[in-house]
Amino acid sequence: MVEARHSIIGTQSGSEFEAEALWNRVRSRLREACGDAVFRSWFDGLGFDRLDGSTAVMTAPTRFTREWVVNNYASELRNAWRQEQDSVLAVDIILRSAPAVDAPVAVVAAPAVVADDSAVKLAYDRAADSRPRVDSVEDDEEFTLGSPLDPRFTFENFVVGKPNELAYAAARRVAESHEAPVGCNPLFLHGGVGLGKTHLMHALAWQIRRENPERRVLYMSAEKFMYQFIRALRFKDTMPFKEKLRSVDVLMIDDVQFISGKDSTQEEFFHTFNALIDQKKQLIISGDRSPSDLEGIEERIRSRLGWGLVADVHTTTYELRLGILQSKAEKLEGIEVPCKVLEFLASKITSNVRELEGALNRVVAHSTLVGSTISVESTQEVLKDLLRANDRHITIEDIQKAVALHYNIKLTEMHSARRSRVVARPRQVAMYLAKKLTTKSLPEIGRKFGGKDHTTVMHAVKRIEELRESDSDLSTDINILSRALES
Ligand code: ADP
Ligand code: MG
Repeated sequence: MVEARHSIIGTQSGSEFEAEALWNRVRSRLREACGDAVFRSWFDGLGFDRLDGSTAVMTAPTRFTREWVVNNYASELRNAWRQEQDSVLAVDIILRSAPAVDAPVAVVAAPAVVADDSAVKLAYDRAADSRPRVDSVEDDEEFTLGSPLDPRFTFENFVVGKPNELAYAAARRVAESHEAPVGCNPLFLHGGVGLGKTHLMHALAWQIRRENPERRVLYMSAEKFMYQFIRALRFKDTMPFKEKLRSVDVLMIDDVQFISGKDSTQEEFFHTFNALIDQKKQLIISGDRSPSDLEGIEERIRSRLGWGLVADVHTTTYELRLGILQSKAEKLEGIEVPCKVLEFLASKITSNVRELEGALNRVVAHSTLVGSTISVESTQEVLKDLLRANDRHITIEDIQKAVALHYNIKLTEMHSARRSRVVARPRQVAMYLAKKLTTKSLPEIGRKFGGKDHTTVMHAVKRIEELRESDSDLSTDINILSRALES
């Protein structure tokens, strides 16, 4: 064994050795700068390919990882390299293997860049011209029917993570196709409020307008759809409305749940929908729940909404929230938000992205007004009310469900008195989490576990606390469960 190792090492040249040592040092710096969790999620999979002049070339296992790292950790990467090797002026990330044809993110373009001393050379470009041209749209009479697009809602500003990966990939795919891609018409995006549905739709519209200006895109909220339709009815002038709607190449209707219970609007929507699909025009619809769960919408419409691709925007995870905060914080000029504060916000504000953004804005506004630096303590103070509201989020029932699922036992075992280890230990874990993650008292927790005494709960909490120290599997289980529950 030892000999084999020697012979492998023996084939390495001295410079390969040095390169490996250098890469290890860069990795340590990254781990230090970004924390262990982030490092393991994103950097562990990166490899070092070569030093090419002043460019450090690294490899990523997937496009997704590459894009994520580039979007979120470009400055950390650059710093780590430059601290170790000041001849490195640029960083390039290439894909380890050939990309799948259907990879969700089609971004490989000519490498950006002049290596000035602050440049990070990236395998693709987020250049300035990717910024949408707002004026051309507002001026265009064709689009006055639609709702305005928010210039900040672009793909470039959208942070991708597990929860929104599918919706993002689908939106990108539709935006990049010259006609409605098979199986994606209509594209139905659904999810709770503030999770990025409108952002993705605007991003899609911007991209089509930028890259395929000849395609006519109309984005409107379902509310506006109704308002326009009713106005047309009142003026007995529905033809131009119908014609305009039917003449577009891409129609987007946001928040379709708004038309629930509004019969004549639904009727009109149904006809527009059919006319466009018949002509193979692209439709993109969003709703607060999946088509089959939409209440107050006619069955024929619900069924049609689910014909194409239905993509769920899930609630955020800790990693995604942190990614979003980091990307927003980077854009704040002249204001430093410490990593610790971003991590604190990501772990505490779990409801949705809108609230997360609002929280960051409040913290920043406060510090600007008062002229103080931002710290975890000041953040806690500024966001007292919001933090309390988010705290109430996790219920004992949520915990019991998650734990039962994790250990693959029946939910009813949470209330039973069975002492067999396979059910008793998970029950203790659930009690422990109930104590840690909710504000419920020991007697209240006991009641929720089939009327157990508060001393039983106390014993469970103590026991798990002790075991966590010695049993790394248990400790991992608890970390996974806490994360899942808090996100
Ligand atoms: P929805 O339409 O689902 O209610 P929005 O698209 O309006 O949610 O998103 C709410 C806010 O959160 C917007 O300011 C949006 O830019 C931001 N946001 C949501 N998801 C992301 C994301 N993945 N990356 C960056 N910003 C996001
Ligand atoms: Mg919306």
